Formats: sequence, structure tokens, C-alpha cells
Amino acid sequence: MQDDFKRARLAWPEGKNKVLLHSCCAPCSGEVMEAMLASGIDFTIFFYNPNIHPLKEYELRKDENIRFAEKFGIPFIDADYDRDNWFARAKGMENEPERGIRCTMCFDMRFERTALYAHEHGFPVITSSLGISRWKDMKQINGSGVRAAAHYPELLYWEYNWRKGGGSARMIEISKRENFYQQEYCGCIYSLRDSNEHRMAMGRERIHQGVKFYGLNDGTEDTPVKDDSTEK
Ligand code: SF4
Repeated sequence: MQDDFKRARLAWPEGKNKVLLHSCCAPCSGEVMEAMLASGIDFTIFFYNPNIHPLKEYELRKDENIRFAEKFGIPFIDADYDRDNWFARAKGMENEPERGIRCTMCFDMRFERTALYAHEHGFPVITSSLGISRWKDMKQINGSGVRAAAHYPELLYWEYNWRKGGGSARMIEISKRENFYQQEYCGCIYSLRDSNEHRMAMGRERIHQGVKFYGLNDGTEDTPVKDDSTEK
């Protein structure tokens, strides 16, 4: 059940009746889902994230998202995990920094598949939870969303800023309420490598995957809740 948080009604794209929501993970999509539910928007979750490595981490993030979708009876599309294709597209960009060209490729790839599915299955609107994290470059994400939707004349990319109206804070509140798994790196093995290098330079332990959950083990010595690498 949602809590009693009062929300403003979302400004809904005129004349459109349903949304395909690309979800990157449960913590980011929790707030987006609850905001759309509160406004009576008909939406389906599309989980397509071949950028999450290794497989164990991918399954964990996906299962958390399924758990939350089932709780609210939201349809969930479990798309391909075509990791080989992702690595092929990332070739030569292994050492690019986060928010650089590898990330543009990564967003493009995920939005392209989302837009294709929307086109083939009659969704007039796509959007994504990717932009709710303040560690992400919203302009970069929206650029990818707009580019992908532009392939199909009938399709609209809903460029809504999910951070506003307290969205970023609610994302954390919901994550704690639901005890979501708290990933400590963006997703790909290169972000895992870079996050670990940063942590070790700061005298901290390497990331232990699969052990940290919002609201349960926050603040313990090895799992600081305010870690900068919690972006998706
Ligand atoms: S850092 Fe994140 S957004 Fe960038 S390529 Fe890796 S998984 Fe994708």
C-alpha cells in the first residue's frame, strides 16, 4: 500500500492514454510508479537493462522491481538481457567516465528498445525512471529519449522531471519503506571498477554486491547510506 503522502496531479500529455515506463531499478521507479498511480495513469513497466553486470546483480535488481510491480498489480515486461550486444556497442568506450559517451550509448540502447516495443504494442508514450537520480545528467537522458521516440511519428517521449515536487526525497523514503536493495554502482562493470577505485582511494572497502538494503543496514561501517555511487 502507498502511504498517505499527498501528491499534486501530474500534467499528463494531452490526448494520450497509456505509458510504457522504462524502469532501471526499483529504487528509481518506485516514486515514478506511485506518482503515476496517484494520477490514474495507465502504465506498464518495461525492464530492459543489459547494462547491469554481473548477471547476479541484474537478477537481484530485476526481482526487486518485479516485487514492487506485483504489489500494485502493475504489468511488467521482462525484456531481453542482451549483454553481448551492450558490450559490442560499448567497445572502445571502456574507460570513458560516467555521464560521457558510453553512457549516451547506454541510454540510447535502452530507449531504442523501449521505443520499438511501444511502437509494436500500441503505447503512444514512453518515459523512464532514469532521470530521477540526481547523479544522472537529465539533459543527456532526455536527449536519448527524444532521439529514440523520433523514429516513430506517433510516439511521444514524456520529458517529465521526476525529481521535482520532492520526487528525489520521496524516492529515498519509498526505498526505505520497501527495504529495496541498494545498489552501490551504476550498473556496468566499468562503473563497478571506477566506483571501487574511488572507494579504495578514499580508504573504504570495495563494494559487496547483494548485501545492502535501504532501511535495514543503513549506516553500518561497510555500507554507508550516503554513498555517492547509488545512481543507476
Ligand atoms: S555508467 Fe551506467 S549509464 Fe554509464 S554505461 Fe555504465 S551502466 Fe550505462
